[in-house]
Amino acid sequence: MNASKIIVSGIQPSGELHIGNYLGAIKNLIALQNEEQNSLFLFVADYHSLSGDPVTADIKRAQIEQLIIDLVSLGIDPEKTTLFIQSHVPEVTELAWILNTLTPMGELERMTQFKDKSTHQKENINVGLFDYPVLQAADILIYDTSSVPVGEDQLQHLELTRTLARKFNSRYGDMFKEPQALLSPTPRVMSLTDPIHKMSKSHGSNSYIGVFDEPSITEEKVKSAVSADNSLFEKIIYSHSEVSAEESLEIIPSEKGRQNPEIETLIAGVKNLLTLYREFAPEQFKKLLAPEPVEGQTIIDPQSLRYGEIKKNLGETINNHFAPAREARKEITLQQAQGKQQLLDQIIKNGIAARAIAQKTLQEVKTKIGLL
Ligand code: AMP
Repeated sequence: MNASKIIVSGIQPSGELHIGNYLGAIKNLIALQNEEQNSLFLFVADYHSLSGDPVTADIKRAQIEQLIIDLVSLGIDPEKTTLFIQSHVPEVTELAWILNTLTPMGELERMTQFKDKSTHQKENINVGLFDYPVLQAADILIYDTSSVPVGEDQLQHLELTRTLARKFNSRYGDMFKEPQALLSPTPRVMSLTDPIHKMSKSHGSNSYIGVFDEPSITEEKVKSAVSADNSLFEKIIYSHSEVSAEESLEIIPSEKGRQNPEIETLIAGVKNLLTLYREFAPEQFKKLLAPEPVEGQTIIDPQSLRYGEIKKNLGETINNHFAPAREARKEITLQQAQGKQQLLDQIIKNGIAARAIAQKTLQEVKTKIGLL
């Protein structure tokens, strides 16, 4: 391999992909796979998904296959990206065990995702859920990774990965690189119905937009997303830097808004809508900016926002954006139904290639520790 930059990311096969997964990680991955200097590893995190709610073997198998089809339909090319299945590289669980012995319980206890998931699956707070970030660290470190494209929810886990790399290096000698997180411009897409929380499948089907939702469903969901009466806001500040390409939105409530007990949720809802608008309908979003956006800050007059129109445009542009992927998905699904195995063969081949790297790393790790 002569690529200089190793990029690794994983996605759980636990149901449909939503636009949070897409904007937080997948869109970035598709762009990165086309840059010559990158070597991309993207795995279907089947081991990780076992820490969620249990499903039958048939459902799990279908979820794994569907995620592969969905990623390829969206533009992940398994010949350019090493798209593979996590459990095809069992060495990660061996490395995870070794990293477990370097991980203080307290570090895992304070993980936000563990706390959140524990409240959602009260009857199933398993050790896998607790240990999830250590397996994730093994997944990343085993490929000598430089960058990890993830959503903001994974930053805490990535920090642990970096800590474990440092700990291992100082205890046993230089071995692991400290990987960097690669955040997209939209690293945290919020729930449509409860925008204080991130978009996630666990908050009910109206709270997220599935990448492969039927157009009429997407339009319905966008229509019922939280928005607010214009009089609750004094101004909306959109900051944009051409240099760093960073963008942000700040919503200042009016006197009336400050008295509204729901104001935090309403601000989060409008911010989320405008953020999605900027992503999916950049031209229409620009029209909201008056005067012309300049380097620095632009004010959006809240009185000028017509949520009905914004939601209609947003629903349409999301549907147009994913139309080619919906078509590709139909085509690939048909090929699978006809017994054409090329895609799965390629995934297996990719798993073998990934495993060869993992085996080499694990051997070095064992030697450093003194395991015979
Ligand atoms: P998961 O479904 O947990 O395997 O997540 C797959 C990827 O999507 C990870 O990189 C997450 O950080 C990212 N992701 C999940 N939810 C969101 C969200 N609401 N906003 C942005 N990124 C997200």
